[in-house]
Amino acid sequence: MDQQDKFYHLRLKMVEEQLSSRDITSQKVLSAMLKVERHKFVPEQYISDAYGDFPLPIGFGQTISQPYIVALMTQLLELQGEEKVLEIGTGSGYQAAILAELCKEVYTIEIIPELATRAERLLKELGYKNIFVKTGDGYLGWEEHSPYDRIIVTCAPEHIPQPLIDQLKDGGIMVLPLGSVYQELVVVKKQGNKIIQKSIIPVRFVPMIREKNK
Ligand code: SAH
Repeated sequence: MDQQDKFYHLRLKMVEEQLSSRDITSQKVLSAMLKVERHKFVPEQYISDAYGDFPLPIGFGQTISQPYIVALMTQLLELQGEEKVLEIGTGSGYQAAILAELCKEVYTIEIIPELATRAERLLKELGYKNIFVKTGDGYLGWEEHSPYDRIIVTCAPEHIPQPLIDQLKDGGIMVLPLGSVYQELVVVKKQGNKIIQKSIIPVRFVPMIREKNK
């Protein structure tokens, strides 16, 4: 078996054992998880663990989320294909790549410049033309391209950032981990002036970092 086949086999196993056997039922999400080469998004020394059922370090004290969590958050976004999505916390760029397979455009913000640069380079190398990366504080969103059909936050704020609520389209969906020590994955639906919030499962994400003096 050559290297490519080996990784494909590991991805198939990941999809079957970690995703479809749990509650990931969206065929589109499962196909994207089977297609995107997660091993290209992890540091060299973790390549053999890239398809394991756990998060992995990506440097600067940050992590790439567990495959199941990536799939679950993506499924909760209910993407149809034409959406403009904002992601807060680019990290490795893996979640952005999964989203880019399932929507029209992904705008993604990362606060650590080195991670933003690395993810941008990799996503370009992999041929993604519908992902736009920026360095900055995602708490503030990315006003220029707003409003967004969907927003996904992959670092945990203690409250829902108001700029993100403002930049979400009416009828839009936002998925985020909320809390500090104890966090929950929350789905937020915006309906006019109303915000409907639903907790899904307890989770553990890295905290949302704020830029100082802002
Ligand atoms: N989605 C990423 C997961 C990255 S972990 C992936 O698929 O790999 C969360 C990321 O959020 C980290 O890279 C961290 O640096 C970043 N982050 C933390 N606070 C942030 C903020 N205020 N704005 C933007 N990114 C932030």
